[in-house]
Amino acid sequence: MRLSVDLHSHSGHAGGVGAIRLEDIAKAMQRKGIDVFGTGDCLHAEWRNHLREVLSEEEPGLFSLSICRGKACLAPTVRFALQTEIIVTAAVPGRKGRNSVHLVILFPSFASAEEAFQKLEAWGVKLGLGRPFLKCKDPGEVGDRLESILDIDENVEAVPAHVMTPQGIYGCLPHLDSMEEFFGRATARLHAVETGLSADPILLGMIPELDRFTLVSNSDCHSGASHRLGREFTTLEVSEKSFAGIIRAIRNRAVVRTAEFNPAEGRYFLTGHRGDKKGHDGVACCFSPDFTPGDRKCPICGKKLTVGVLERTLELSRVQGGGRKLETLSAAQGYIHTVPLSEICAYNLGVSNPASKKAMAQYELILDAFGAEIKFWEQSAGEVEKTLADVLPEEHLENILEVKRGNFTFEPLGFDGSYGKLVIGRTSDWFSTNCPSGLTAAL
Ligand SMILES: [Zn+2]
Ligand SMILES: [Zn+2]
Repeated sequence: MRLSVDLHSHSGHAGGVGAIRLEDIAKAMQRKGIDVFGTGDCLHAEWRNHLREVLSEEEPGLFSLSICRGKACLAPTVRFALQTEIIVTAAVPGRKGRNSVHLVILFPSFASAEEAFQKLEAWGVKLGLGRPFLKCKDPGEVGDRLESILDIDENVEAVPAHVMTPQGIYGCLPHLDSMEEFFGRATARLHAVETGLSADPILLGMIPELDRFTLVSNSDCHSGASHRLGREFTTLEVSEKSFAGIIRAIRNRAVVRTAEFNPAEGRYFLTGHRGDKKGHDGVACCFSPDFTPGDRKCPICGKKLTVGVLERTLELSRVQGGGRKLETLSAAQGYIHTVPLSEICAYNLGVSNPASKKAMAQYELILDAFGAEIKFWEQSAGEVEKTLADVLPEEHLENILEVKRGNFTFEPLGFDGSYGKLVIGRTSDWFSTNCPSGLTAAL
């Protein structure tokens, strides 16, 4: 059985997040075609109590929203799994400063989440934030504490989050050469990493130590908006619909495909500095790896540049001695590149906000034709053309088909925290070199 899962989100209790209503999430999941969604912040007492009240266990470790009524009850099959993100910090010997690494943790039951909560409390962790900080002395302590959490239940799973971003294991400063440098002996008990919006299986295939890891993709969304929830997800082949079934599939690399944001749209693809940085007067700079200044200092403000995912991936590949070439690498797992459909609608209609009424009206029309957004991505350009022929004006349909054919790019590409800007109708050199067969070929 196939399940599409999105196992990393945040509640209203994580910093900088608005209020989240699970009814809205359930509706959005159904519209997207997401079967199982991570609750976010399940170590936060108030949110956990709320989850306990409104969720009921349908299959072992998977919960439905029992309060959903009326329209939301059209989503009786959607499930929630208990999930949190924690931020682990430690000083790595021989490196200047402390590393800070985000980690997704999945729990099979309220009892196991409660036990983790108590352990963190005993270690002096402040649990008033949805995304708690686990401060450790060194990688030895990171390993011990992580193992202690994993020991709670054989199905507790820890997944290094958005690994290539400045908050992930490979992007954080000071730069590390391997996972073990930070996670210590717990590294052996990790089975999967999250690709994040800035990387995909091709890029991560450059990093030799990831050869034994499953790549999963999640949205890390902070709202149920259609261009956020499910913007990345993973389709698993599970032997049974249960939390243990999902964890088994993750550990056994039973991934049908991940749906990936195009890395070039992600906020940290190239190396650079945004124009709104101090000393920049609105002038941005960004570099593809061959052109980054040797000292990695910004030619405008003189400070260290934010190193992009592409450059960092090539560096890790060198450091770990893989001798791999991006141009000739093929992905170890199935994946598709997607652009949030509501973003394409906004592009069609010339509006900047994908969540605007205008964009959403077109988005809903398309979803009505397909039933769920995932189905749209699963179909070939030819099939999509047939389905939407009577639904959209010709030029709008053509834009959608161009995206399906892989004929799009981002200008500028994402860098230093800003998303890439979608341009439909042409590709960039980077895409034609690295994704020659386009989007649907990876299905
Ligand atoms: Zn994070
Ligand atoms: Zn600068």
